[in-house]
Amino acid sequence: MRDFVRRFFRSTRGEWLFLAANLALLAGFLAFSLLSDRRSIAHGEENRLATQTQVIHDLLLSRFSSIRRAHLNLQNELHTAQARGVNPMPFVERRLQGFAEVIPGVRSMSLLNASGAVIASSRHELIGMNFHDHSYFQLPQHSDDLATLYLSPPYTTALGSWSISLSSRINDARGKLAGVIVSTLDPERLSQQLQSVIYAPDMWIAATHGNGQLFLMLPELPVPRGHNLLGAGSMFQRHIESSATSNYLSGVLPGSDAQRVMFIQTLRAPELHLDFPMLIAASRNREDLYAPWWRSLWQQLLLYSLLAGSSSLGLCLTQRRRRQNRQLQRANERILRDKNHVLEELNQQLQAQSNALQAMAFRDGLTGIANRRRFDEALTAEWRHCRREALPLAILMIDIDFFKRYNDHYGHQAGDECLRAVAQTLSGKPGRAHDLLARYGGEEFVCLLPNCDLSGANILAEALRQAVADLQLAHADSPSASCVTISIGVSCCIPEAEEGACALLAAADQALYQAKQNGRNCVASALPGVTSTAHPLPPGPPC
Ligand code: GH3
Ligand code: MG
Ligand code: MG
Repeated sequence: MRDFVRRFFRSTRGEWLFLAANLALLAGFLAFSLLSDRRSIAHGEENRLATQTQVIHDLLLSRFSSIRRAHLNLQNELHTAQARGVNPMPFVERRLQGFAEVIPGVRSMSLLNASGAVIASSRHELIGMNFHDHSYFQLPQHSDDLATLYLSPPYTTALGSWSISLSSRINDARGKLAGVIVSTLDPERLSQQLQSVIYAPDMWIAATHGNGQLFLMLPELPVPRGHNLLGAGSMFQRHIESSATSNYLSGVLPGSDAQRVMFIQTLRAPELHLDFPMLIAASRNREDLYAPWWRSLWQQLLLYSLLAGSSSLGLCLTQRRRRQNRQLQRANERILRDKNHVLEELNQQLQAQSNALQAMAFRDGLTGIANRRRFDEALTAEWRHCRREALPLAILMIDIDFFKRYNDHYGHQAGDECLRAVAQTLSGKPGRAHDLLARYGGEEFVCLLPNCDLSGANILAEALRQAVADLQLAHADSPSASCVTISIGVSCCIPEAEEGACALLAAADQALYQAKQNGRNCVASALPGVTSTAHPLPPGPPC
């Protein structure tokens, strides 16, 4: 199984599969990391926008609380003065100025009578003006709830600024409308505070009346002041419909196609008894918000593509190189095989030539039988062998009788023919594997007979002599016979000493001499070193 897996991963397809799996794994990891980053950006931005809206929310809450406490204080003072029957106006005037000064973000604080005319104000230029048609007067006029703090829709003030007012009703002893306290917010101050929480160029922050009318938006956007943002499906509308205190939404603003995310929070503290809430919203452009994320995505995509491309190319090249190497190796092996084949053939030819040369080196050129060198080597080897095995070793020394005369009579060429014929005849007789017939030199032959005793050698010698005589090769000039005959000297011994082959040879030679002396065409034998023990055989009958 392990072998199969190892072989699979080393195969071309396995390598590609392994690379694809790694790239898929990396792609998965990158996708997971990018999605985590995106979630973290969304979550982080929601927290940041929530914090900024909370800052403005808390600021307005504290401002509205101060205004409510000031209104309650004035209501109480006026009731007390009314109950005591004293004119409250001198201290009311001072109180209004004092409150407007100490409550940050309040531009003016005024007291209107039951017909809407300003009878006291922190701003003297307003005294005598009548605001009975303004919502901040009409709202408390038509309600008898003293505890409610009425939040007017945004409007342009008598002094020409865009603002919002908070008003409270004052009743007389009979419960009828005695007047209205109106506190007008300072829009510049609030703008500065809204501006201070903006942390990105594409961010805006807005304060809106609970009825959807835009009060302030920073930075200034093409949405007109007082525009109602509660359009169908708008982010403000969705927030109101959700009844939640805060929401993190995405969508578009009126007059813009840009997708935005927005955190929106409702300012509705029950202790304030506000008739309408205020909405505080902070928003960012989605495109700008996710721009770094998109940059990172493209960079990682580019790097991934580079990595995937380069690793695929690398694998492709490696596999091609390996294929080429294999082809080269196969071609080399083929060439090597061919060369080996040629070498083998050459070797065989060389061997054949060497064998032929060796055969030639050990063969006599004229007769084709073994030569003297071959005989010398065989004699040494067989001497040792027979000595080791304690076997008899016999030698026949053969000489053609009166061969000089033959040459002289028939010519040298006929002499050669005679030598070949005698050799041919002699070589057919010794039949054992280790018997060796060699041309000893001139018209002399020698026969080496391992494991052959003297009597066996004599018998073979006699057979050889007879065979040559039987050839009936005419020898007209021979004094002893009319045909070619041979004389043979036989010697035999069981080799005992390392040296001694020469003595055996000498004994055979001696025996040959004896045979010549005995009249030729006969066999004589001698033992090495014992010439007296030579027993010459009688010469054969004449041809
Ligand atoms: P013997 O009976 O005493 O041996 O007399 P022989 O004449 O044979 O002896 P001798 O040694 O005097 O002569 C040997 C001759 O053999 C001499 C030489 O001319 C002849 N001879 C030797 N080698 C060759 C050869 O290769 N070819 C031929 N044609 N004759 C050879
Ligand atoms: Mg001779
Ligand atoms: Mg001779």
